[in-house]
Order: sequence, then C-alpha cells, then structure tokens
Amino acid sequence: MPKMGYNNYHMDIHTNIPLKNYTTMKLGGPARFMTEVRTSEEVAEVYRNAKTQKLPIFVIGGGSNVIAKDEGFSGIIVRMRIPGFEIVADDINSTTIKVGAGEEWDSVVKRAVDMRLSGIEAMSAIPGTAGATPIQNVGAYGQEIADTLQSVEAYDSREDRLVTLTNDDCRFAYRHSIFRDESIGRYVITSITLKLSKNLPTPPFYDALQKYLDENNIQIFTQEIIRNAVIAIRSTKLPDPQISPNTGSFFKNTIVENWQLDALRAINPDIPLFEMGDGRYKVPAGWLIEQTGLKGQLLHGMRVYDKNALVLINESATSYNDLLAARDEIIGQVRDKFRIQIEQEPLTI
Ligand SMILES: Cc1cc2nc3c(=O)[nH]c(=O)nc-3n(C[C@H](O)[C@H](O)[C@H](O)COP(=O)(O)OP(=O)(O)OC[C@H]3O[C@@H](n4cnc5c(N)ncnc54)[C@H](O)[C@@H]3O)c2cc1C
Repeated sequence: MPKMGYNNYHMDIHTNIPLKNYTTMKLGGPARFMTEVRTSEEVAEVYRNAKTQKLPIFVIGGGSNVIAKDEGFSGIIVRMRIPGFEIVADDINSTTIKVGAGEEWDSVVKRAVDMRLSGIEAMSAIPGTAGATPIQNVGAYGQEIADTLQSVEAYDSREDRLVTLTNDDCRFAYRHSIFRDESIGRYVITSITLKLSKNLPTPPFYDALQKYLDENNIQIFTQEIIRNAVIAIRSTKLPDPQISPNTGSFFKNTIVENWQLDALRAINPDIPLFEMGDGRYKVPAGWLIEQTGLKGQLLHGMRVYDKNALVLINESATSYNDLLAARDEIIGQVRDKFRIQIEQEPLTI
C-alpha cells in the first residue's frame, strides 16, 4: 500500500476502491486513491501532495448525500474522520460545543440531548458526519444547522492554511451555503462550533412534529421527547439506507416567486405553498412528483418511494446512468405538468 506524506505524517493510501461501498446510494465505480484523515494537519498534507501530483481531490463523510459516477473518480477521495467533542463556552443560558468534522452527526445530537441542550434535537437520525452539516445547511422538522452554528474551522485549499469562518461567512440559505456554491471544493471543514440553548424546546413546532405530539397526547416538551418523536416520524417516512440504498431526499423543495402563484394555482388549486417571509414560497417537490403519478413507480431500477416521493431507492439499478435516466424522467414530468424545474439535492463526485 503506498504511503503519502512528509514531516511526521504518513497516511495510508488505498487504490482502486469501489465508491459504491462508500455511498449510501450504492452506485459508482472505483476511486483511484482513497485515504482517511484524522487531524487538520493530515488534511493539509494530503492536499499539498495532491497538488504536487496534480490529482483531483474530493472529500466525503458518510457518503449519504453524494452520487458517484460509473467511471469512478480519477483522483484522491479523502474520508473525513477527525474526532472531537468539547465544551468551549458555558453560561447561564447556553453551552457552546466544538465538534470534530468526522464525528457521526446523530451521536452528536444524542450527546447534546443527553446534556439537555436545545437547538439540534429535531435534526435527529440524519445520517452522515458533523462536518458535512454546513455544506447544504442540513435541516429537518423546523431546525437547520444555520440556527445554532457559530463558526467552522476549515482548511482553505486555495490559500493552504487553516481558517475560521463565521456563520455569516457561510451565507446559509435553504439547503445552501458557500460550500455548495462559489466556494465549492475550496474548504475542508475540520470542526464545527455550535451554540446550544439550556432552555427547553418550545412550541410552535413544525407541522408534522406538532401533529405527532398532538396525536400522542404529548404536552411536555424536553429535548429527549422531541428527539424521540422525530426518530419515530422519520422511521415511517425514510427508508433505512442500510436496507434500501438511498440518499434521503433526492430532490430539493422548489422555491417560487410571488408572480408565479396564479399560474401554479391555475394548474392545481390545491398546490401547497409555504411562505418563506421574503415574498417567496416553498413548494414541496414530493407533492409535485406525486401529482405526476410516479410515486411508487420503478424507473430504470430506481423506486420512487411509496411513502415519500422525494426519495429514490436504488432497488435494482446497476449504473449511474440508470439513476440519471430515472432522475431526468421525473424532472421532465414535473416540468411538463407544472413548468417548474426541480433540482437534484445530492452532489455528484
Ligand atoms: C435516509 C436519509 C435521510 C436524510 N435526511 C436528511 C434530512 O432530514 N435533512 C438533510 O438536510 N439531509 C438529509 N439527508 C442527507 C445527508 O444525510 C446530509 O446531507 C448529511 O449532512 C451528509 O453527510 P455525509 O457525511 O454523509 O456527507 P457526504 O455525502 O459524504 O458529502 C456530502 C457533501 O459534503 C461535502 N463534505 C462532506 N464532509 C465535508 C467536510 N468535512 N468538509 C468539506 N466538505 C465536506 C462532500 O464533498 C459532498 O459534497 C439524508 C440522507 C439519507 C440517506
């Protein structure tokens, strides 16, 4: 096995590794090289080496929001494994924690909930690593990482140095940040710092969560009760990637402008529209797909999940091209019916 590095760092580099074993969609050809990083120095080291050798580089965490192509990746895949969980500030109202990018996200949520801290309990049971949460401003059931994130530490591969980016620097929006946009590929997040509240979670809760709490006659809201409720709801709506390969929502909800509403209501007066407060509205992409009649259908080996049309399950697809064909058919049918272009959520390696 080749080694990489100078100074004191010697990382194992594996060759010809099938990416389908490292992505929850279970598709994708071989990575030419793959290595794991456990410190920020190792991140810098691997980037410097890749630059010298003119190799492309791509970071993955749990592989739960990426798609790999059949031809694989001709450079180095870096698996983020930096550990860490420490309290960096504490006052009467809040506790601030700093978490290594390679920590499993749900175990971070569990630890925070066990410490009776609020702010991320509704983001329970989301697969993947802590360091990936800022990339698409991960969110669920009314919370998103932007609400509690103070800053991230990152390796800036353009400047070859470690930097701290504030919440504002990340320019968070719905499923969006600079890491998916103008700075794509530039920063490797090595830790995230979250400021969590010591107050109990308070209503109003997200509609689906409130409905579950009402139905189960739950009137006392602790972090743990909210976490358990979210886990229970998710288990009915999201397939377990270990059993049914998927990436969670395959499509982002669509944002439409005020001026589009009349035309959309003319197509279907029942179209659900959630006001975002800035003159724009969120349209659930799952609802749009449902209206095309594709929910539950098998397209090129990909199943449009019958409990949640946003999710595509790899039932029998053998190639990335199968997934592309299924994706394009869904996008095309939604466009034909509503003249709305829905977008893929996971990034392609
Ligand atoms: C069943 C299921 C349910 C899901 N539910 C939700 C949900 O409710 N809400 C939600 O928002 N998402 C959800 N997801 C999507 C996914 O879990 C999240 O986006 C998660 O944050 C991805 O983490 P990961 O470590 O697997 O990232 P990966 O898939 O490995 O990577 C995702 C992207 O982040 C980049 N990246 C990863 N780590 C770093 C780093 N340290 N520095 C720089 N870039 C990095 C990668 O290059 C890639 O572009 C779900 C997925 C599944 C399979």
